[in-house]
Amino acid sequence: MSISRREFIKGSLSVAATAGLPFSLGRPAFAALAERKDRPWEAGYRNLFQGERTVRSINMPNCTGSCAWNVVIKDGLVKRVEQPLDYPDDEYNPRGCMKGATYHRRVYSPNRVKFPMKRVGPRGSGQWKRISWDEALDFIASEIKRIAAKYGQNTIWIYPPVPATGIAKQGAGFRFASVNGFGIGTFYNWYGDLPLAHPITWNVQTEEHEFKDVLNTKYAIIWGSDVAQTRMPDAHFFTDVRAKG
Ligand code: SF4
Repeated sequence: MSISRREFIKGSLSVAATAGLPFSLGRPAFAALAERKDRPWEAGYRNLFQGERTVRSINMPNCTGSCAWNVVIKDGLVKRVEQPLDYPDDEYNPRGCMKGATYHRRVYSPNRVKFPMKRVGPRGSGQWKRISWDEALDFIASEIKRIAAKYGQNTIWIYPPVPATGIAKQGAGFRFASVNGFGIGTFYNWYGDLPLAHPITWNVQTEEHEFKDVLNTKYAIIWGSDVAQTRMPDAHFFTDVRAKG
């Protein structure tokens, strides 16, 4: 039997509607669908973007989803990425959203800043000059020294990024600040999308369960977040638990 993509989506929607469910396939059902051979349109897309090899990688932006990807490479360039569908706990399959699927376009974007740039005009004038890494590091070091000598070590404030962007990045910032007597900021000091009152109240950073635990809740409050847009690979846990009533 062969069915078109349109028929497949129409069929899935009508099954969901009949069962009174949101349009959620459920993880095991999705994995089973991925095995099906009657979706030739998928092969069409795969053939369009064929590569020479596939490597395993992970998406690690600030969304903290940390989704795994199979990355298809050709001529040393990423051609496309594909959800691996092999998380040991099937509830987490598939993982990875449209933002992650297109993230490699940012890597090759002509607008991506690849080199140190120094402002050479008035602030806001858009006048920048490319400089070498040595020049950039020397300039930063000399400015840190100048400001520390003039205003004191503790007037320099180092903020490391969220841990999800890489522990080396974060640890290096903390270490740099602590050995020099600089102030240390955390992302709770300035990331507006984090619960600033949480560490003030509890003296710890965000407490959280793994997302699958949402399936055990009988009452969920989602406050200040649109999980369907900002937590795509985990949003289904909310639709799943709603489907359970
Ligand atoms: S949810 Fe999307 S943006 Fe976030 S890590 Fe996963 S693929 Fe990347």
